[in-house]
Amino acid sequence: MAAAGPMMSKQRVALLGGTFDPVHVGHLFVAEEVHRLFGYQRILFVPAAQPPHKQRQPCADAQQRLEMLQLAVAGNHAFAVESWELHQGGVSYTVDTVRHLSGRCDGRLGLIIGDDLVEGFDRWHLAQELIRRTDIMVARRDDRPLPGLLSAATALDNSPLAVSSSMIRERIGRGAAFRYLVPESVYDYIQRHGLYRMHAVR
Ligand code: ATP
Repeated sequence: MAAAGPMMSKQRVALLGGTFDPVHVGHLFVAEEVHRLFGYQRILFVPAAQPPHKQRQPCADAQQRLEMLQLAVAGNHAFAVESWELHQGGVSYTVDTVRHLSGRCDGRLGLIIGDDLVEGFDRWHLAQELIRRTDIMVARRDDRPLPGLLSAATALDNSPLAVSSSMIRERIGRGAAFRYLVPESVYDYIQRHGLYRMHAVR
């Protein structure tokens, strides 16, 4: 499986971890904004084997989520997929990934999270270590102002796209349009593999 590998050494890197079930334009656009606004040379998309903060198992399997991400980042030299958490398997803790990647990048790692994750962030595994080791950026996901908390984080003045993976799964489940909410290559992949058709509302 392709990973970011040693290419990223000496680069300023920001992480966007998630389930990516599936990856969508909201993920890609916020990553592009962070790349452009904060000068991170590389944005690493890190698919989780099993995210600790989600109750449900992912719908697509790990290989499919990885392949969709690889299709989505193709053609953007600033984007790469880091499959380390998938190789580790089990519950994926961001702090472990940060420890794994820290020494390989230039300076401090950036960590992008959506504002839906702010509440409860203090319950993340070793949250204080994450705050110490990374520069956290909180992205808005809709037009509401950012919630408080996380004084250590930078609030992104991003242009929110109100798209979510669950919305896409739900749309596919009921046969609604979802083209253009994901890159065309990901749309084709989902169609070809018949993903999410059986998952009405999850
Ligand atoms: P689901 O709807 O299944 O919960 P999701 O759309 O939130 O999925 P994840 O893979 O869980 O997608 O998200 C990975 C990261 O990207 C999280 O930090 C999340 O907050 C952030 N994120 C997801 N969608 C957006 C968006 N539209 N704009 C900005 N950040 C986003």
